[in-house]
Amino acid sequence: MTSTSLQTAIKLAFEPLVLATKHPFGISYGTTSDKTNILVKLGYDNYEGLGEASPVEYHNETHATAVAVLKDWQQSDILGNNPFAIVETCRRLDKSLAGNFAAKSAVEMALHDLVGKIVGQPTWRLLGLEQCKFPMTDFTIGIDTLEMVEKKTKEAVDAGFKMLKVKQGTTFDKDIIKAVRKAAPNMPLRVDANGGWTVKQAIHMAHFLAEHNVEFIEQPLPKTAQVADFRVVREQSPLPIFADESICRSYDVARFAGAIDGVVVKLAKTGGLNEALKVIHTARAHGMQVMFGCMIESSLGVTAAAQLQSLCDYLDLDGAMLLANDPYSGAVYKDGYMQLSDRPGLGVIPRA
Ligand SMILES: [Mg+2]
Repeated sequence: MTSTSLQTAIKLAFEPLVLATKHPFGISYGTTSDKTNILVKLGYDNYEGLGEASPVEYHNETHATAVAVLKDWQQSDILGNNPFAIVETCRRLDKSLAGNFAAKSAVEMALHDLVGKIVGQPTWRLLGLEQCKFPMTDFTIGIDTLEMVEKKTKEAVDAGFKMLKVKQGTTFDKDIIKAVRKAAPNMPLRVDANGGWTVKQAIHMAHFLAEHNVEFIEQPLPKTAQVADFRVVREQSPLPIFADESICRSYDVARFAGAIDGVVVKLAKTGGLNEALKVIHTARAHGMQVMFGCMIESSLGVTAAAQLQSLCDYLDLDGAMLLANDPYSGAVYKDGYMQLSDRPGLGVIPRA
C-alpha cells in the first residue's frame, strides 16, 4: 500500500456520457434509443476513480437533477479527504438529501474504484469476494413490433446468448412471448412487466407464462402497488414473483418480506455497492432470492454491478451490450458469463 496522507481533498468532476442503443429499447414506460448518463471522476493524489450515474424518471431522477446534485457536492467539502471512508462519506451524502440514488451511486462506485487503485487490488477482492462461482447473465428483448421481437431474439440466439429476459406490459404480451418462443423455443426465459399489469392481469399472465416455460416474473405490478397486492399475486402465481421498481434500499426489502420471492438489486436504486450488499443480505435474511440488474449504462456502471455477482442467483447485466457505442471495457461477456478482470478498482478502462 502506498503512503496515502489522507490530507488532500477528494476532487469531483463530471461530464455527460452520451450512449446510443443498437436498437430502440422499449419497456412499459416508453422507448429510448439514446441515453445521456453522467461520468463522475474523483481525483485524489495522482489517482482517478470513475463512476457512472444512470438516472431514470420512474425513480424520480433526471439528467438535470443528477447534474444539480453533483454540482452541489462539487462546490462543498462533503467528499472529505479520505477515500477509504466510503461508509462515512455516503452517510453524509444521504444526510445532505434524500433519494437521488443514481447520483449517489456514481460517487460511491468511484470511491470504490479509487480505493482499489490506491491499494492495487480489484474491488471484488477488497469486498471479500472471489470470482469462482456466479450465475450467467441474460440478455433483454425490449418491447417492439412482433416482427422486431422475433428478429431481436434470433439475433440474440445467433450472438450466443444463453438466457433471455423479455419486457412486457403491452396489449399484446402473449404474442410477444409466442414470437420469442418461435425463435428461442428452449432458452431460459424470464419476464419483466415493469409494473404494467393489474393484480388480475398478473395472475392471468403468470399462468400463461408458466405454460411457456418462463422462470419468474419481475415487477408485475406498478411501483406504487401495495405490499398486500404483491402478496395476492404471489399466492396465486405458479411462477416466482420478483420486485424491482418497488425495492430501492434494504428497508424496502424488509417491507416486502413474505409478499415476493425475490428482489432485483441495481446500483442506481441502492446508491452504491455498500447499500447493494445490505439489500442482498436483507433479502437473504428473509429467505428471498436475488437478481442483480442494471439500467442502460456503459461497461463502467455494469462492471461496478458485476463486482457483486457471486452473491446473486440471477444476473441481468446486459446494459452495455445493448449499446452501439460503449466507451469502456470492463466485465466482458463470454459464454454466458460476465468475466471480471484482476485490474485494480472496478477494472474499467477506456475501450481501445
Ligand atoms: Mg426490471
